[in-house]
Amino acid sequence: MNVLIFTDVNGVIGFGRYAGSYRVATELRKAGYSTQVIEFLADLSLKDIESIADKFIDENTLFVSFSTTLLIKNTDKRSLERLDRSKQNRYSGHLPQNDEFVEEMFAVFRRKNQKIKIVLGGGRTDNTSLEGVDYWFWGMSDTSVVALAKHLKYGEPLKTIDGLVGKVIRAEDYPYHDFDNANIKWEDNDYIFENEHLPIEIARGCIYRCIFCANPLHKKVGEYVRTVDSIREEMLYNYEKFKTTGYMFCDDTFNDTHKKVKDLHKMITSLPFQIEWTGYGRADVIHAHPEQREMLLETGLKAILIGIETFGTIASKGVGKGLDPELMKETLYYIHEAWKGKVVITGSFIVGLPGESEESIWKTVEWLQREDCPIDDVMFSPLNIRASTYNPNAPLSKIARNPAKYGYTITGPTLGRGISTEGPQWENEFMDKNRAETITRKIQEVFHKENPIADWAVYSRLRSIGYSSEELLNTQKKDILYDANKKRRDMYHSYMNKLLS
Ligand code: SF4
Repeated sequence: MNVLIFTDVNGVIGFGRYAGSYRVATELRKAGYSTQVIEFLADLSLKDIESIADKFIDENTLFVSFSTTLLIKNTDKRSLERLDRSKQNRYSGHLPQNDEFVEEMFAVFRRKNQKIKIVLGGGRTDNTSLEGVDYWFWGMSDTSVVALAKHLKYGEPLKTIDGLVGKVIRAEDYPYHDFDNANIKWEDNDYIFENEHLPIEIARGCIYRCIFCANPLHKKVGEYVRTVDSIREEMLYNYEKFKTTGYMFCDDTFNDTHKKVKDLHKMITSLPFQIEWTGYGRADVIHAHPEQREMLLETGLKAILIGIETFGTIASKGVGKGLDPELMKETLYYIHEAWKGKVVITGSFIVGLPGESEESIWKTVEWLQREDCPIDDVMFSPLNIRASTYNPNAPLSKIARNPAKYGYTITGPTLGRGISTEGPQWENEFMDKNRAETITRKIQEVFHKENPIADWAVYSRLRSIGYSSEELLNTQKKDILYDANKKRRDMYHSYMNKLLS
């Protein structure tokens, strides 16, 4: 095998694949490099690693890579609540396992082929400090991954800069110009499970500029959106090959332009099968184009995250969400009227935004607890001001670029060591980061028992391990945890059997 890509989304209930690993696998395979993606990284023992190395590493192997974006420090608690996940993330290294494991894992690979390179890509590569790594990818690697393969196989030149350890390959040296057709071509050796929901890229980056958001790709309208034909082709291929009808839409704001929604609605409703999907959307665009409510429903939307961030009047003005709090609430009622019992709406909120007091936050909580509240599920997070890292182009929010302008003082060290996105302690006129975290925990306790299981982040992951849509829309987390973890464990064994057979 020419290339191995280890990947996982660990610490979350259910099973779902990370698109990025398979996107680069598609490019490598297209360029003629045999590529094996290996799931369940966090579950693998050193014995598993040896078996994998025995089967896949030989003199033709060029590199072994790790897709780091959605990895957190290893934990047995697959039910990790979001706050616990952030905390776990804060203390994580680059990979889920501890240093001794990682060192031995790299050694296992090199014992099979001394020349192979160890490569890390994805969202946790800004800090290039992990011993044993030869190459780091910064930014999108759709093009650079093939350049690396060519360099290692044919000695073609490769543009790099020095990392703390190893070399860095930067996206700006290898831009990707074919996003219109950025498909994932799933292969037999990806071992897709029966009825599995798959990730599919619709668009990359975001056209908005919310002040707290460190989106790595703030783009212009129309940039980095795939053509409808290429998405249709991918869905048809997946259906024919794997009977796929469930998707995790990879798109930071699916409904950002009305034209996009209209075009995709037309295409999806004309497919010879009905899909279901989960993703991200904005309520202000539904307010501007109310017909999107029905259109999204008709395309098969099942669970969505809507970033609301705050109902505080002063705070909402500067945040970038585009709607007055009362209009936002009205829009949510409007949406819920048609989506009730069919689509799980998760509203996300931030504690610690500029101009928002504790009192204002608790008023929001009161509204969210009302019997007639149109939001099914809430997610609160303390404001994170990401610190700059070794990578000068690492994404930073507007607040992080100029904390003082937004009323923040940075008061403590960076907790995430530049590996995770966890930023330093901060303070504003109303609270500091610790207080924001305490408030967030208190709020999560209020909603903990009531939150439905099938939010936008786990609906597809649970569908993939065998629950029906009806089961999920009527189930709470606590009722499913044990059974879901057992089902996932069985999938892991079945996957490993296929991988190593
Ligand atoms: S918070 Fe969402 S809508 Fe706002 S910039 Fe970030 S990705 Fe875009």
